[in-house]
Amino acid sequence: MIEMQDIYMTYPNGVVGLNGISVNIKQGEFVYIVGHSGAGKSTFTKLMFREEIPTKGKILVNDQDVTKLKWKEVPYFRRNIGVVYQDFRLLPKLTVYENIAFALEVIEENPKSIRKKVMNVLDQVGLKNKARFIPDELSGGEQQRVAIARAIVNHPGILIADEPTGNLDPNTSWEIMHILEDINASGTTIIMATHSKEIVNTIKKRVIAMEDGVIVRDEHRGEYGYEI
Ligand code: ADP
Ligand code: ADP
Repeated sequence: MIEMQDIYMTYPNGVVGLNGISVNIKQGEFVYIVGHSGAGKSTFTKLMFREEIPTKGKILVNDQDVTKLKWKEVPYFRRNIGVVYQDFRLLPKLTVYENIAFALEVIEENPKSIRKKVMNVLDQVGLKNKARFIPDELSGGEQQRVAIARAIVNHPGILIADEPTGNLDPNTSWEIMHILEDINASGTTIIMATHSKEIVNTIKKRVIAMEDGVIVRDEHRGEYGYEI
C-alpha cells in the first residue's frame, strides 16, 4: 500500500536527505522508524504525505504515484493520511472540539455529522469531557490525544507519527502508545519515527533503521538497536 522505489531527496540547499531508499509497507502494519538525528526519518515520512517531493524515484500510496499529484489533488490525497507531531501543533485559540471539527469543516461536512464524528473520536481518546477546553488548559498527554483525535477523525488508512512521545513523560508515553495500538488494531497503518528505546523494545513491531539517508536495517519485530 506504500511503496517507495529508489527514492533520492536532495534539498534545495544541496543537503542530501535520502540517498536511495526502497521499501514496502502493507496496509495495517505498525512500523517504527529509528535512527540518529539527521538520519532522514522526517524526510522519509514527509514524502509519504506529499510534504516534500523526491528528487528522484517513485512513491506509490494505494497505487497512486504521489510524486505526480497536481497541487489541487493534494488535499484530497491527504484525507487518507493523518499526521501527529512531537509538539502537538494544535490551534491555541480554538477549543478541543474546534481543533478537531476544523479538520472536518475543511472538507465540507454538515454540522450534525461533524458533531457526531468529533464526539466519537474524543470518546475514543478518552477526552469527551474536555471538549470545551483550550489546549493550554490540558496536559501534554491530553494535547497529544487531541492531536491524535484530529488526525484520525476522517478515518485515514495511514497515520504518521513523528516522535509522538518526544515531549511526554514515560507514563503518558505508554498511554499514547496504547491509543496508537488501538488505532492500528482497527486496520490503520502506523508509521512512527521515534527515539524511544524502551517503547521499541517493549511493544515489538517492524523496525526500519536509517543512517545517512539510507535504510540500514528492516526487521519484523525488531529492536531499537542504538544507545540513546
Ligand atoms: P531526522 O528526521 O532523522 O532527524 P531529517 O529527515 O530531518 O532527519 O534530515 C535528514 C537530512 O536532511 C539532515 O541532514 C537535515 O539537516 C536535512 N534536512 C532536513 N530538512 C531540510 C530542509 N528543509 N532543508 C535542508 N536540509 C534539510
Ligand atoms: P451531549 O449530547 O452529551 O450534550 P454534545 O455533543 O452536545 O454532547 O457536546 C458534548 C460536549 O461538546 C459539550 O461540552 C458541548 O458543549 C461540546 N460541544 C458541542 N458542540 C460544540 C461546538 N460546536 N463548539 C464547542 N463545543 C461544542
